Amino acid sequence: VFLPEALQSLVIELQKLPGVGEKTALRFAFNLQQRGTEALMALVKALMDVAERVRPCSRCGFFAEGELCRFCSSPERDRTILSVVETPADVLAIERAMDFKGLYHVLGGVISALRRIGPENLRVSELVNRVKNEGIKEVIIITSASAEGETTALYIKKALEGLDVKVTRPATGIPMGSSIEFLDALTLSRALRARIEL
Ligand SMILES: [Zn+2]
Repeated sequence: VFLPEALQSLVIELQKLPGVGEKTALRFAFNLQQRGTEALMALVKALMDVAERVRPCSRCGFFAEGELCRFCSSPERDRTILSVVETPADVLAIERAMDFKGLYHVLGGVISALRRIGPENLRVSELVNRVKNEGIKEVIIITSASAEGETTALYIKKALEGLDVKVTRPATGIPMGSSIEFLDALTLSRALRARIEL
């Protein structure tokens, strides 16, 4: 009410970001306002570049510019082993743990009755197609250690039944209820090394 309309709309947009409440949004907005046109245009350009150039990798669902992401287009990655994760942030967490040299498959979430997310809303059929066509020997399902993560893992296991592939899951080390994104690198790399067949 006290702010000019333009500044108020900026505050409203900023508050849509995760973890940004009104106070933080106001701080960001005031800071941005003071930066001047040139700095703001750089920010606008960065935003527009993301809007125009970044899209999901057509193979794994991670961020890509163009058809394939960096992992899928790299000749250095092991194409026979696939980590199935919930989000692109999980991919980054696993890369930070540095133990994994295979490829990824980003589901886009987990099966959740509460949030009305079914397998058809996730990239499960794309995963089945990849296993059928890409010579994949092992699929590691690295969904979060929660009821929804477990349900999703079991659903995927079933979807892959009858195909010539080993389906595994980290055996230990992922504390109940924690999402992969926020695990520390050591815990994650230990969990990745010890895995059991589903
Ligand atoms: Zn990819």
